[in-house]
Amino acid sequence: MLVGVDELLSIGTFSQRCGLSPKMLRTYAAAGVLVPAAVDPGTGYRYYAPGQLHAATVIAALRRAQVPLAEIATFLADPDEARFDQWERDREVELRVRRAALADARALLPLVHPRPAVLAERPPTPGAQMMSTLTTGSATDIGQVRTRNQDGVLAGDAVFGVADGLGDGGELASTLALETLRVGFAADPTADGLSTACHEANRVVWGRAQQEAELANMGTTLTAAAVLPDASGLAVVNVGDSRAYLLRDGELRRVTRDHSMVQDLVDAGELTDEEARTHPQRPILTRVLGMGPAIEPDLFHLPIRDGDRVLLCTDGVVAELDDDAIGAVLAAGDEPGRTASELVREATAHGGQDNASAVVVDVARASLGPDLR
Ligand code: MN
Repeated sequence: MLVGVDELLSIGTFSQRCGLSPKMLRTYAAAGVLVPAAVDPGTGYRYYAPGQLHAATVIAALRRAQVPLAEIATFLADPDEARFDQWERDREVELRVRRAALADARALLPLVHPRPAVLAERPPTPGAQMMSTLTTGSATDIGQVRTRNQDGVLAGDAVFGVADGLGDGGELASTLALETLRVGFAADPTADGLSTACHEANRVVWGRAQQEAELANMGTTLTAAAVLPDASGLAVVNVGDSRAYLLRDGELRRVTRDHSMVQDLVDAGELTDEEARTHPQRPILTRVLGMGPAIEPDLFHLPIRDGDRVLLCTDGVVAELDDDAIGAVLAAGDEPGRTASELVREATAHGGQDNASAVVVDVARASLGPDLR
């Protein structure tokens, strides 16, 4: 666009006409969203073309909708109507997450009756001949070294998870991811719904990281399991190096595969599992939620049987306890809340180099008539 110098507007005049403050205009320029038409190299004064007023009002409207600047930049480069539908869905998810968080705060406020370690026992569905009754417990500990606990745990009625937040704002990242997952799965309680909720969790965390400079490098792992509606088993979703394990008939199996550099080396035959566990580069992840606009979670279907015990845990447990030690605690047969607490306690006692968290889910498939309950 060629404009005569006399037609250019000073940043002050442009600011008055479009209603955006000079400070905001400088932020948009820095983000590449609305770059001044000219800058006086002598004084540093910025000038805008009259034709940029329209773009400025569009950007202002999108900012009022809390669309991240980075998304506005890519949108303006190639405007697409479908993007509005996506933004509307994102805003709805954010609203649901905030409402769920408020409901949690409300429920927690009395503080007279702290939530018991055993959080959920799903009541059998009336009329169902064969159903799964799940009992759940969870525990988390800051460990001996870290100054903050950025792990999050979720032990709901139908969806369970752990998330290991990283970066400044890691606590927020793990909380947002688990809340988004919980709300998303409640809206569509299927394997597809769990996968969609994981993608939504990524968008929500990434969106917040884009909005606030001090949260720019936050991210989180996410490992979650959800009960499928036909009781055929659990859907398990994973991003990062938190893990899901299954204890069946006294034998421990890993359900998830870590998204980490050392796991790639193990798969290539260059490291043993035990070498990987204590390797200095063990924390380097190849997939993390909230680091980009899209994510590729691993999805597993886990058929469940009576007596199965499922563990979700963060790497703070895995780094301190090998699979034999984890299996021994799970096989001891204490109820889920005690078992989760014992795993976390042992990890902290062994070294506690990291936050450690565990969610334990027991499966009891039984045929219960109403009179037996
Ligand atoms: Mn960790």
